[in-house]
Amino acid sequence: MTHTSFTMQEHISLADKNWFNTGGSARYFCEPETPEEFALALAFAQENKLSLHLLGLGANLLVSDAGCNGLVIRPHNKTIAITQQGAEEATVTAGAGAVMDDLITFCLDHKLCGLEELSGIPGTVGGSVFINIHYFQFFLSDFLVSARVIDTKTGELIPVTKEWFNFGYDYSTLHKREHLLFDATFKLRPASEIEAAYAKGRNVEIIRHRRQRYPYQGTCGSFFRNFHENEVTITSNGRKMIFIAYYLDKLGIKGELAVGGAIVSHQHANMIVNRGTATSQDIVTLGRTMQELVLKNFGILPQPECQLLGFESYPFLQK
Ligand SMILES: Cc1cc2nc3c(=O)[nH]c(=O)nc-3n(C[C@H](O)[C@H](O)[C@H](O)COP(=O)(O)OP(=O)(O)OC[C@H]3O[C@@H](n4cnc5c(N)ncnc54)[C@H](O)[C@@H]3O)c2cc1C
Repeated sequence: MTHTSFTMQEHISLADKNWFNTGGSARYFCEPETPEEFALALAFAQENKLSLHLLGLGANLLVSDAGCNGLVIRPHNKTIAITQQGAEEATVTAGAGAVMDDLITFCLDHKLCGLEELSGIPGTVGGSVFINIHYFQFFLSDFLVSARVIDTKTGELIPVTKEWFNFGYDYSTLHKREHLLFDATFKLRPASEIEAAYAKGRNVEIIRHRRQRYPYQGTCGSFFRNFHENEVTITSNGRKMIFIAYYLDKLGIKGELAVGGAIVSHQHANMIVNRGTATSQDIVTLGRTMQELVLKNFGILPQPECQLLGFESYPFLQK
């Protein structure tokens, strides 16, 4: 295990590696960059019968206070490159460890447009493909054309097309945890000078708007996912109310409901914020209380969008 970024480290804190800034340590931690390094890490996990966990920026993750006894892999392949440049379409390939905002800036600097609609969403390419990030009507899957994934059992690098991911709202095949994302290729629209300038302006404006509207620290963004249409009966203006924030808003919990150091944001009813002293257990208890309130008042049970790492049993209410 020779690469400088690829030493197998032990007892590494995860609290400074996720946006809630809570949780315990990883028994083993490494940051592979090449396919060979990923294969080595996966073999190490198999040989030592370790549970395997992928980590990006930790922007959608709640780490248990006990941490995890397995191996946490944080991909270090951050290369971003134009892989095809045509008059009508270009493709850009980015490593799983690349930060989404760096990818968007790279594209805009090369007058390649489209991805700026997802500006300001914290995360790596790996974490973002995993959940298929979305903002208003735009989904990351609108842009992804192909990728390379690694089989977590064999360490084999496998090229796949978009269809392989079976993308949905908050879903991709990566949720099965049989593969991890190595890199992904996105299609972009080559733009004229003026179009590119407009797209750059849009990027700045979206980020400014998001920073004003939502909390930007000590949170994982939306804690619960929206409902699917078949889960809800309540309508507003003739439309099924699938938005979890609609229900949470009605409870009047914004900036009010708190457990220990965790509180429901005063800006957004579906965002839990660490006031500085929260434990992951505080966040779990607050999340459960929110579930109970929505269930009691509206008869539906919200489910977390936030992913979990290191919990021995599922800590939230389930149907
Ligand atoms: C302030 C704030 C605002 C947000 N706004 C939005 C928004 O508007 N829209 C939206 O969709 N999301 C939003 N989010 C959620 C978050 O930004 C996304 O889910 C993002 O994609 C998380 O990426 P990450 O690299 O931090 O992943 P992490 O949180 O580190 O991991 C998330 C999951 O992805 C898995 N994973 C990570 N890398 C890989 C890989 N290489 N292969 C396989 N699995 C992997 C992890 O195992 C984990 O289960 C917001 C979060 C915050 C903090």
